[in-house]
Amino acid sequence: MKNRLENIRNAIREAAISCGRNPADIRLAAVSKNFPADAVRPAIESGVDILGESYIQEAREKIALLSSYPVSWHFIGHLQSNKAKYAVKLFDLIHTVDSVRLAEELSRQAARISKIQRILIQINLGNEDSKSGISVDNAEKLAREISRFEHLSVRGLMSIPPFSDEPEQIRPHFKLLGELRDKIKACAIPNIFMDELSMGMSGDFRVAIEEGATLVRIGTAIFGERAYKT
Ligand SMILES: *Cc1c(COP(=O)(O)O)cnc(C)c1O
Repeated sequence: MKNRLENIRNAIREAAISCGRNPADIRLAAVSKNFPADAVRPAIESGVDILGESYIQEAREKIALLSSYPVSWHFIGHLQSNKAKYAVKLFDLIHTVDSVRLAEELSRQAARISKIQRILIQINLGNEDSKSGISVDNAEKLAREISRFEHLSVRGLMSIPPFSDEPEQIRPHFKLLGELRDKIKACAIPNIFMDELSMGMSGDFRVAIEEGATLVRIGTAIFGERAYKT
């Protein structure tokens, strides 16, 4: 695990330098979904400070077991409105907001605990039925609607592009997400900050970094194969 992590960190640094970016501008979220607390602890002790989780119930238990560590937990799974209450308690950044309804509930729950919840808007780049996210065409409108929720702070965009074994096939999707981020940023909507681009997983993070990723979400390449794939 320690070796794998070292390799990932080196690969992130090399990808950044190869395209003239500062490696410090790319943060690693280690995706620990499906792995128990005991498997996550060594990663934290090797310096991982952001963990990504996809399921609320699983995350609640794991975060409780690892509460002594000063790490940041990010939610990267599909979030149902009825779980918003837990999500705002547990997570520093929620990557997967794709509707006004969910945003409204998150803001309401964040207000109850006097929190400003940081979120990303999830974009469905390939318009895939199987994936969550708002379409590229409707993203700006959603950002404008979310901007009125006082207990949310929109930090940027996230996407899981259509899968391919060949990272170069995914590059145009990453590029499009970056362009969309720039376009929404240029609108200067109050309360909408567009600094983060959450994109890139184990198989394609190098290309994502070349296209501007600020947060890469890497699971398998750090923890190994999950017992079941999600
Ligand atoms: C599981 C997951 C990842 C990590 O994928 P790997 O291929 O294991 O690196 C990244 N992002 C999201 C949204 C995920 O659900």
